Amino acid sequence: MTTVATPPITTAKLLSRHEVAEGTMAFRFERPANWAFKAGQYLDMTLLYPPETDSEGNVRSFSIASGPHEETLMVATRMRDTAFKRVLRTMPLGTAVKIDGPSGDLTLQDSFTRASVFLAGGIGITPFRSMICLAAAERLRHQIFLFYSNRRPEDAPFLDELQSLERDNPKYKLIPSMTEMAKSRRSWSGETGFINQEMLGRYLRGAASPHYYVAGPPAMVKGLHEMLNRAGMNDDDIRTEEFAGY
Ligand SMILES: Cc1cc2nc3c(=O)[nH]c(=O)nc-3n(C[C@H](O)[C@H](O)[C@H](O)COP(=O)(O)OP(=O)(O)OC[C@H]3O[C@@H](n4cnc5c(N)ncnc54)[C@H](O)[C@@H]3O)c2cc1C
Repeated sequence: MTTVATPPITTAKLLSRHEVAEGTMAFRFERPANWAFKAGQYLDMTLLYPPETDSEGNVRSFSIASGPHEETLMVATRMRDTAFKRVLRTMPLGTAVKIDGPSGDLTLQDSFTRASVFLAGGIGITPFRSMICLAAAERLRHQIFLFYSNRRPEDAPFLDELQSLERDNPKYKLIPSMTEMAKSRRSWSGETGFINQEMLGRYLRGAASPHYYVAGPPAMVKGLHEMLNRAGMNDDDIRTEEFAGY
């Protein structure tokens, strides 16, 4: 009789968690040995033996928010009231989860001759944080523009860090825009309103044949993709990642 060997599963232990915006948390996990990925890719996370579950199950996809140059793996998510996220919020440090992947091709092109234009809505920032941190750490030659839309600064994950990275990397420009400042307690002197053709045009004048990357909730990704097409961008120059589940 032949026996079929079950492939070993890859697990990672939770190291820490912290808030990165109102209602949004980042989770750092131990990085399994030899677990390589490209900035911008995602993983599938499965809770092992969770104390509770619901009809949505124990698996979620998360873009990897940390860079490949970092020692640990980080994911970040909006903390909605689902069994998966309640467990993630409360499980003891040291708890292991199963990870599968990496997957996805929302990754930086090798060529740095074209400008990379990132369009992020809210939690869609995660793959871009990975790429922007890598670009600064490894002094990549890519010219990067990040258009980052949120309702309020309070809702914008990693905003301070993304602002300070501009000082480390002169080839990276952040354009954050807020759509509901009337509901904010903070002051704001930056852009307001949704990312649109006019806003892109003002910042991308002179950018070398831009390549667009869009990530976030499906409705937002669809809207921005259509806007880019209306502005004359070809689908060959647009990569998208829809965060199915939002
Ligand atoms: C490639 C990718 C990257 C993502 N990255 C992030 C991230 O960085 N941060 C983040 O917060 N969220 C991310 N998401 C969304 C995430 O997987 C969750 O769906 C989301 O966080 C909502 O989970 P919930 O428990 O709050 O809601 P719920 O409504 O309870 O769960 C979401 C529902 O979506 C379903 N679902 C999960 N994956 C898929 C899929 N691929 N196609 C169709 N349905 C699916 C689940 O089974 C579940 O039913 C990503 C999704 C994808 C596909």
